[in-house]
Amino acid sequence: MSDKIYIIGHQSPDLDSVVAAVSYANLKNLTQNARKNHEGTEKVEYVPAIAGKVNQVTEYILKKFGFDAPDILNDADGKNLVLVDHNESSQMVDGGDKATIVEILDHHKLNFSYSEPIEIKVRPWGSTTSIIYWLYQENDLKIDKNLAGLMLSAVLDDTVITKSPTCTDFDKKFIKELANLASIKDWKNYGLEMFKIKSSVKDLSAEEIIKLDFKDFQFKAGKFGIGQVETVDLSEFDSREDELKAELDKIRQAGNYHSVVLFITDIIKEGSKVLASTSDQGKVEAALGSKLKNGKAYIKGIISRKKQVIPKFTEVFD
Ligand code: MN
Ligand code: MN
Repeated sequence: MSDKIYIIGHQSPDLDSVVAAVSYANLKNLTQNARKNHEGTEKVEYVPAIAGKVNQVTEYILKKFGFDAPDILNDADGKNLVLVDHNESSQMVDGGDKATIVEILDHHKLNFSYSEPIEIKVRPWGSTTSIIYWLYQENDLKIDKNLAGLMLSAVLDDTVITKSPTCTDFDKKFIKELANLASIKDWKNYGLEMFKIKSSVKDLSAEEIIKLDFKDFQFKAGKFGIGQVETVDLSEFDSREDELKAELDKIRQAGNYHSVVLFITDIIKEGSKVLASTSDQGKVEAALGSKLKNGKAYIKGIISRKKQVIPKFTEVFD
């Protein structure tokens, strides 16, 4: 095995996938150094990496706590990878199909097969970073103030400040502990400030907004692209709906998608505006449980793509 193992999240990296790579690489290097001193085993270096440019809020949070963005891994062909925050090949870094996968750490549904047994840790928790926090505890490792702030931000982001149905009691406990370590007293307010930064999309193009958090899913019916953007004020998007819808049509045609769907989620009112470009409106309506008018709908109570959207789409299209 070559001496480097890249720890990497999914394409269109979100805060959780970047923070998971950074914090898990740190943990792996620490535990391995301890083992090396004890057993004299050969040293491997764990390197955090990303599959593409970080988004605006990730850049802000990294800087706030004094971290550099990991380097982008452009081609994973021949590399050793630990996958964090994803496991589906359609979401992997380019060249991931020709890489050696040594481990997976994730909180999504498993859609992974491999020629060898590897270590896989999946917990149905609100973020991958929550699993890593738990591993720090298991290994008796200290988390300093800045790393705690970084990890807290990722858990708050992925759990939508604990509002998401994916948020478990573990996540809530970890949030309180991490906030303590980071000396952030009012974590709810801190989370809200973070989502306000996330919401400021005025300067972004329609394509950039859609690709902020965009995932491919391969179902039996075809390839689906499902994006989500979270906001504290849905009306900020009112004037851009038609532009976004036209861009979804463009992406669907160019990428040969069955459907491309964007969820604009209002985290205060707890509901999502859905924009859809599809070759089968009736079935997409069935998956959404809602009628589309000109490819648009507002659905109350939808916050989580993972827990509320993907299971329905899998049911209808897979
Ligand atoms: Mn993610
Ligand atoms: Mn995640």
